[in-house]
Amino acid sequence: MEWEAVIGLEIHAQLATNSKIFSGASTAFGAEPNTQACAVDLALPGTLPVFNEEALRMAVKFGLAIDANIGRTSVFDRKNYFYPDLPKGYQTSQLFFPIVGEGHVDITLEDGTTKRVGVTRAHLEEDAGKSLHDEFPGMTGIDLNRAGTPLLEIVSEPDMRSAEEAVAYVRKIHSIVTSLGICDGNMAEGSFRCDCNVSVRLKGEEEFGTRTETKNINSFRFIEKAILGEIDRQIDLIEDGGRVVQETRLYDANKNETRSMRSKEEANDYRYFPCPDLLPIVIDEDYIDVIRDNLPELPDARKARFIEEYKLSDYDAMVLSGDHHMATYFETVAKAAGDSKLTANWVMGELSKHLNQNDTTIADSPVSADQLGGLLVRIKDNTISGNIAKKVFEAMWSEGGTADEIIEAKGLKQVTDTGAIEKIVDDVIANCTKQVEQYTSAEPEKRGKMIGFFMGQVMKATGGKANPGAVTGILKKKLDALCD
Ligand code: ADP
Ligand code: MG
Repeated sequence: MEWEAVIGLEIHAQLATNSKIFSGASTAFGAEPNTQACAVDLALPGTLPVFNEEALRMAVKFGLAIDANIGRTSVFDRKNYFYPDLPKGYQTSQLFFPIVGEGHVDITLEDGTTKRVGVTRAHLEEDAGKSLHDEFPGMTGIDLNRAGTPLLEIVSEPDMRSAEEAVAYVRKIHSIVTSLGICDGNMAEGSFRCDCNVSVRLKGEEEFGTRTETKNINSFRFIEKAILGEIDRQIDLIEDGGRVVQETRLYDANKNETRSMRSKEEANDYRYFPCPDLLPIVIDEDYIDVIRDNLPELPDARKARFIEEYKLSDYDAMVLSGDHHMATYFETVAKAAGDSKLTANWVMGELSKHLNQNDTTIADSPVSADQLGGLLVRIKDNTISGNIAKKVFEAMWSEGGTADEIIEAKGLKQVTDTGAIEKIVDDVIANCTKQVEQYTSAEPEKRGKMIGFFMGQVMKATGGKANPGAVTGILKKKLDALCD
């Protein structure tokens, strides 16, 4: 039997406003608990919410970026539930008239194919506070700093059929909101998190299977793992004669598995009703047009420009434009180095390798775009070889400093003085009689490959500092002279 997964995602993007959605309290991350919760966030009696228009502008930007219908009238509703970190007893959200209606994004998969994923809606809502379970033995702490932080909840159609498609979609939305500057995209801090709805059905089946929803996953890798795990779990369950129960699950990254949290609630469990404290938001064409006219470059346009302007391959352009910070970084380095292909190789190679190994993102890279640019300039002008540049990069990464400082301090300048190289080549030829003998007695077309050995010897003798181009030329000249 062949199974097919059906996946729909709900993404919560924290909007990058300075103050909260209904109060003037700061939204800055990491403050002492409960120092950024004002009377409105604490739900003290008699307080009233005041809507932060910046959150509206950001939501409209997003709607325009995904080609969506913008709600000319949208309404806040109360979603009622009890939880200790929700002092009002309800979350102010939008159910019936969201600010952003149907839209779509296009995703590109590893094999180069593209697919359109529908966005059902995106609505404004407030975040809740945080319950802290580990700090106080036997008790739960409540931190309300996050209460009232503006969120845009972006709900997709159940259009994805694999974990790969789901991750590509989340990356695309991430790239859009960070390009728009409406969300910092910091997944580790929870500014961008994802609920994954997953069901399975037999291939060819029309109807969807029963879904589970795995909540609040905050890294691309965990999204992929949680979905893969959940697909397997559901298939095993059904093949063993069981049934999938509609429920909310939690992803445990340490165990790499999802586990049941609670049975799924329905919309009517929440007793939604329009919030009487807030007026409907009514916007006109002019308001939308001004925002449309001021939209920054979006990821698809940037990818096309990277291909055009920097002559990048489709794949390189996709990777480098796929993340807003990565794209900006790439452009800064490419401009400094004056070589887009070399820059692409370094950003996607050495830099990405280090970022992955250290589990960090380009926004937090210890090597800045200016530093990498300075390094590539020194490769281009032959001060150092590509191999030595890796050593310089390593030093930059762990100790900081500019390329020039490191090259100077460690004496890594490339030897381009041909006289000096000739001397070393002569020594190598004199010391490696056996290999020289093999070289001269080999058929001419086989000799090219044998140069590598001598090259290695010269590099060893110079600590890798000899200019590889110059060495190859001199070696060929001297060795071929011995053949006649
Ligand atoms: P709720 O608000 O109760 O979570 P929605 O109907 O709004 O439910 O759907 C939430 C998400 O679940 C959407 O992204 C939707 O695409 C997805 N979804 C709905 N049904 C399924 C299903 N059978 N399998 C996978 N995803 C689904
Ligand atoms: Mg949901």
